[in-house]
Amino acid sequence: MIRGYFYQPNSSRVQESTARLSDSRVAIYAGDECVYETTPEALSVSAHLPGQASELIFADGARFVPLDTRYRWPFQRRNSALLARLESNLALIVCALVATPVLLYVLLFKLVPTIAVTAVQAMPEAVVEQMGQQSMVLIEQTVLSPSELSGDQQQAVRDLWHETLSQLGLSTDKYRIDLYRSDHFGANAFALPHGQVVVTDELALRLTEHPGALRAILLHEIGHVERMHSVRLASQAAVASIAIAMLVGDMDIVAEVVLGSGSALMDLQFSQNMEWEADNYALQQLERLGYSGEDFAQALESLALLDEEQAQSWLKYLSTHPSVQQRIEHAKNYASSP
Ligand SMILES: [Zn+2]
Repeated sequence: MIRGYFYQPNSSRVQESTARLSDSRVAIYAGDECVYETTPEALSVSAHLPGQASELIFADGARFVPLDTRYRWPFQRRNSALLARLESNLALIVCALVATPVLLYVLLFKLVPTIAVTAVQAMPEAVVEQMGQQSMVLIEQTVLSPSELSGDQQQAVRDLWHETLSQLGLSTDKYRIDLYRSDHFGANAFALPHGQVVVTDELALRLTEHPGALRAILLHEIGHVERMHSVRLASQAAVASIAIAMLVGDMDIVAEVVLGSGSALMDLQFSQNMEWEADNYALQQLERLGYSGEDFAQALESLALLDEEQAQSWLKYLSTHPSVQQRIEHAKNYASSP
């Protein structure tokens, strides 16, 4: 006989009572009267916490709380007894406090990027295409307006683009260029995961006299697409949120991130590593095609001047870009480096 309190289902009524156990039956008595009866299979036992009574929770919501906080029910699962031992062991608690951040770090910064890279390689082309197109619709609606460049000016950019693609041997089905006016982006260029590159009027105007510099920027953007940077970021965000959701047991987070990945792309911030990768892609291709890394340095220098005049430019929009001076030096020295 275990003394305690019985809480009626769907009611605040509390009765002083006793629980009587047999192998196949759990009965609650108030005095001599049996007020509740069930089988051990039809109830659960609350989590074991030191200093807290272990409650019986019945299928209909009724509860029995023993008076003795140390009392443990005989039909409690073995693992909850183990849990109780772990939870009352100070050394283990300290270990867990230290191990949890380490584990989170390994999970989010080591495991997640690795899984994400694998996921990216397995990502079907159609998914990437859709991801890019959806983000583009959103960006177009919010921060882009039709180009105001003359037909000749637009054609000059398109010619340069097509020349570059054919030199690189890249598909014109996949890679597209579009010109837009954008107060939001200023002098800028960006690439969407499916191969669409957007150049703003201001950037095209800025570099009209320096087609070599514009080519270098286009190559940098192609580098982001070829290395699948935005897909990698989106899939990292997705894998990370799934990992966190599994840790905290709330799968709603996953839906939020997966549904929101289109808008997340708008504020995409490539990592510094990704920027270096794209820079190096541009420099490699410039060298391979017989141009000079100076073109890239020139593009950066020209935009760095602009940067002082206006806040939004190709250099500043992505605040994670490595410092301009570093990039200019890297571009100038590229030919001489192995
Ligand atoms: Zn970039």
